[in-house]
Parts: sequence; structure tokens; C-alpha cells
Amino acid sequence: MKIEAGFSFSDIVARANDAVVVATVAKKGSAKAKIAYVNEAFCRLSGYSETEAVGRAPDFLDGPDTDAETRAKIDGAVKNGRHTRTRLLQYAKDGTSHWVDVNIMPLFGPNGEITHFAAIQRDVTEDVKREEELLSLATTDDLTGAKNRRHFMERAELEVHRLRRHRVPFSVALLDLDHFKNVNDTYGHQAGDEVLKEAVQRWQKGRRPFDTLGRLGGEEFAILLPGADAGAAMTVAERLRAVIADQPFDTVAGPIAVTVSIGVAEAEDGDQSIEGTLGRADAALYQSKRAGRNRTTKASPIPAANRAAGGCKKR
Ligand code: GH3
Ligand code: MG
Ligand code: MG
Repeated sequence: MKIEAGFSFSDIVARANDAVVVATVAKKGSAKAKIAYVNEAFCRLSGYSETEAVGRAPDFLDGPDTDAETRAKIDGAVKNGRHTRTRLLQYAKDGTSHWVDVNIMPLFGPNGEITHFAAIQRDVTEDVKREEELLSLATTDDLTGAKNRRHFMERAELEVHRLRRHRVPFSVALLDLDHFKNVNDTYGHQAGDEVLKEAVQRWQKGRRPFDTLGRLGGEEFAILLPGADAGAAMTVAERLRAVIADQPFDTVAGPIAVTVSIGVAEAEDGDQSIEGTLGRADAALYQSKRAGRNRTTKASPIPAANRAAGGCKKR
């Protein structure tokens, strides 16, 4: 054991709380990068013993949800002999996953050439969980669990961008519960709250993972449908209307029959902004209300004359 400055660095590394992995560098020809050393913390975190880990490829803890871009960033840095620091999802021997903050640095031989890479890894799974919880709190409506207005609008702006840049269509549906004031007046505010919560649960059940359901305010909701043209959006919206009307809501005040009116609009270049699309959906929703409620109306397309002046041209 090499003793420097009166104590052993290798002892510190061996017993550090952070996992330490040292790997050889890939050589031109056949030799691939291989793990040459792991410390005790690595074995605790990964569940692999030293003998199981040494000799394996440095990325052997990657798994199905490890981000390919992050891995490519690490590989690129190693190839170019650069230091890099990032967060990575890894998999332990028992199949469970954990997040590590990984700090990778080249190690130099006596002639200044890179002989190895060292990776110092800290388990940040709890931090990542807490961040996800905070983000979820900041983007979610407390009462119903739908996304809040601000988050919905941010997501919608992203879709406007994708439409302009990549011509990916999207639609929005505005949903407004019918005569909801009557529900509160007749059954009480608590029963009204229960209806709002249950309505969102019914809508969330059939939602595709990439659709965003938002509460825009009071008893008004919206769903953002990436990739959906007006026809596809009408099919989705009809389903959302039916799941409300088909079955009464069980509440503290007994079963309550509820309906919803919906307006659907596909985003168009002439909309200028997301407000334009939502405005057309709102006009369609108003038509649903006027026609007797409990129905779904498709917004009229923008007249050709207005379309020519549209602001959604490719930048
Ligand atoms: P319309 O069919 O025209 O939409 O009639 P409406 O009664 O639903 O429309 P209006 O906008 O007049 O009333 C909305 C009601 O929604 C008024 C308000 O008391 C109720 N509301 C808004 N937010 C909440 C909430 O968080 N909880 C409950 N219980 N009621 C709410
Ligand atoms: Mg209403
Ligand atoms: Mg309303």
C-alpha cells in the first residue's frame, strides 16, 4: 500500500461513503474499457461484489430507463479525455433502480497519457424523488389532481412550437360542467367539490399518457391532445362527455346527475397563439351550451381571408 503524507489515500477511497469505480480506457484495436477497481460503497449500492464487478464494462449498471442521451454524453467525454458530471439512472443486482450523481475524471500515467477513468457516484435517489414531488405539487391543482392552468398553458405553448417547427398537429377541448351553480345550490359546496374530483378521475382514466388534462378555473377544464386533428379530438371529447353523463356521481348528498359541454378546436397557423386556439374552442363550447348542453361542438376553421394574415409561420 502506497503511503503518502503519512496516511493511505487508498484506505480513504476504499472506505468512502461515495461509490468509486476505476476503469481502464478503451484501446485502439480490440481492448474495451473494463472496470479495474470498485470500493465498498459501490458494492453496497449496486449489490455486486468486487469479483463480480471487476472486468465488466463500465456501463454494466445501465438498464431499460437509463437515459441514452446521458450515456452518450458520458461516453463522448471519456472518448475525448474530458471530465464530466451528470445524473444517471442505474440498476442494482436485484433489479431495483437508483439515481446517482456521477463525477467522471481521466487519470493520467507517468507520461501524461490517460490510463484510466475514475467515477465517483453518490446516491441521489431521495433528492430526485423530492424534486419530482415538488414539481408535481407546483404543477397540480390541489382539489382535483388535474394540472393547473399555468402548467397546462406551458404544455400548450410547447405544442404550438411543435406545430410551427415540425408540422405536428394538436387539438384542445374545453370542458365546462353544466349548471354547476345548481349543483352547489341544491346539494352543497362539498358535494360540488366531490363532483369536480370524480369528474377528473373519470377523465384521467381513459387519457393517453401524453395528453394533458388541466383545470383552467372553477368548473372549467381543458385537455390538450398532441398529434390529434379535429376529427380525432372530437372522438376523444365525445368519450369525455359520455363518461360524465352516463353515470350519476355518488356524493355525500346522494347521487347527482351531471353533464358537461365541450368545445373542440384543432390548432391552425392562423390562430396566432394558443389563446387563439382556445378562443375558437371557447366559441364552440358556447355553441354547445346554446344548443342545450351535454354536447360536443367542433370549432369552425378560420376563414381563408384571415388565415393569410396568420402569425404562425415558420420562423
Ligand atoms: P353553465 O351550464 O352555463 O356552465 O352554468 P354554470 O352554473 O355551470 O355556470 P357558472 O359559471 O355560472 O357557475 C359556475 C359555478 O361553479 C359557480 C361556482 O359556485 C362553481 N364553482 C367554481 N369553483 C368551484 C369549486 O372549486 N368547488 C365548487 N363546489 N364549486 C365551484
Ligand atoms: Mg358551467
Ligand atoms: Mg363556467
